[in-house]
Amino acid sequence: MKDTTKRSYDVIVVGTGPAGAILGYELARKGVDVLILEKERLPRHKPCAGGITVKTAKLLDFDIRPVARDVVHGAKAVYKGNRAFSRSYTKPLVYMVMRDEFDYLLAQRAREAGAVLIDDEKVCEIDATAPGVNIVTTHNAFTARILAGADGARSTVAFNLGLMQGINFGIGLEAEISVSSQRLVQWERLMGLSLGHIRGGYGWVFPKKDHLSVGVGGPLRQAKRLKSGYRALLKSYDLESHSVIRLKSHYLPVRRKGMAIQSKQCLLLGDAAGLVDPLTGEGIYNAIRSAQIAAPIISQCLQTDNVDLRAYEGAVDREIMPELKVARGLARLFTWLPWLYFGAIEKSDRLWRACCRVLRGEETYATIKQKLEPFDGLFDLLSI
Ligand SMILES: Cc1cc2nc3c(=O)[nH]c(=O)nc-3n(C[C@H](O)[C@H](O)[C@H](O)COP(=O)(O)OP(=O)(O)OC[C@H]3O[C@@H](n4cnc5c(N)ncnc54)[C@H](O)[C@@H]3O)c2cc1C
Repeated sequence: MKDTTKRSYDVIVVGTGPAGAILGYELARKGVDVLILEKERLPRHKPCAGGITVKTAKLLDFDIRPVARDVVHGAKAVYKGNRAFSRSYTKPLVYMVMRDEFDYLLAQRAREAGAVLIDDEKVCEIDATAPGVNIVTTHNAFTARILAGADGARSTVAFNLGLMQGINFGIGLEAEISVSSQRLVQWERLMGLSLGHIRGGYGWVFPKKDHLSVGVGGPLRQAKRLKSGYRALLKSYDLESHSVIRLKSHYLPVRRKGMAIQSKQCLLLGDAAGLVDPLTGEGIYNAIRSAQIAAPIISQCLQTDNVDLRAYEGAVDREIMPELKVARGLARLFTWLPWLYFGAIEKSDRLWRACCRVLRGEETYATIKQKLEPFDGLFDLLSI
C-alpha cells in the first residue's frame, strides 16, 4: 500500500485523464516517484464520444478490450439528412468505450506500476517561482521538482503559468441515448457520421452495447447552432423519439506550433496543451502520445538534476504538430466543401480504405497529402 500522507514528490501530475494516467504509468515504470492528483472522485464521468481508434490502442502495451463495449468496422454516413451510404472494412477501426471505465483502467495501470493517485483532490494554486513547485489543493499542500498539467481543456496549470492564452477552441455536445434492443442490433460494429448540419463540424452515433452515444462538434463560433444540429442529427438517424440522458458540452482545444507548453519546471500534456485533432476532434491519441514523449525527458531531467523542459516542447513540435497542421488544412477544406468529402468517400473505395488506414495508424494525413501531389501545395496554404 502506497503512503498517501507523503507531501513531497519528484513529479506531480494534475489530472487522471488519458494524458495524466499514462504519464503516471510511464514514469512509475521508470522508478520515478510520482503523484497524480485528480479533482473528481474516480471513476468519473467525462463528456466524450468514447471512440478509441485502433492507432490509439496500438500506443498502449496493455489490452483495452476488457472495457470496449463494441468494435466498429464500418460507418453509416449521412449528408444533410437526405443522402446516405454505408461502408465497412475488413479490420477493426475504433473501440467504443465509456470514458469513466476507460480512464479508470488507465488510472489502475498507473497505480499498479507504482504511481500514487489521490482523487477528490483539486489543484487550486501553483507557485513555480521556487526551485521546485508548490501546489495547494482543496485538502492539502504538496511540493514537486516537476509539475505536469494534464488537467484538460480548461487547465488550471496552464492558467496559473500564463500559458496557452489565445488558444482556439472547438466545442462538442454529447449525450447517451437509450434505444430498444432491436435498434441497438442495427448499430452493432457500425458508427454513424453525419455531415452538413454544422458548418465545419459533424455529428456521430457510437454504439455502446446497451445504448448509443450521440453528439455533434464543430468550431466554437458554431456553438449556438449545436443544439439545432443535434436535433437534425437525431432526425437523420430516426432517433428523435428516444430518451436523451446527460446532454453535456465541452471544449476541444487546438494548439498552434509556437505556443509554449512548458515553463520552468512545468509542462502541459494532452488537452491542456491543445493537442486535439482539428479535423476529427480526436484527442486521446495525442494525450497519450504527449505523455509518452514527456516521460523519458522528465526522467532524464531528474537524473541529471537539470530541469529544462524545452526538449519536450521541441519533441511535440516535431512529432505531433506536423500531423495537426495537415489536419488544420483538411479541416478548412471540410468547412467550405463538406459535400466534397462526403461524395469523394461515397464514390471512392480507395479513399475510404485510406481513411480506415489512418484510423488504424497504418497511414497518416501527411502520407495522404503526399499522394495528392501536385495539389499538396494547396494544403500547405490551407494549413497556415
Ligand atoms: C463531446 C466530445 C467528444 C469527444 N470524443 C472523442 C473521441 O471519441 N475520441 C477521442 O480520442 N477524443 C474525443 N474527444 C476529445 C477527448 O475527450 C480529449 O481530447 C481527452 O479527454 C484529453 O485527455 P486529457 O487526459 O488531456 O484530458 P481529460 O480527459 O479532460 O482529463 C483531465 C483530467 O483532469 C482533471 N482535472 C481538471 N482540473 C483539475 C484540477 N484543478 N485538479 C485536479 N484535477 C483536475 C479532470 O477532472 C480530468 O479527470 C471528445 C471531446 C468532446 C468534448
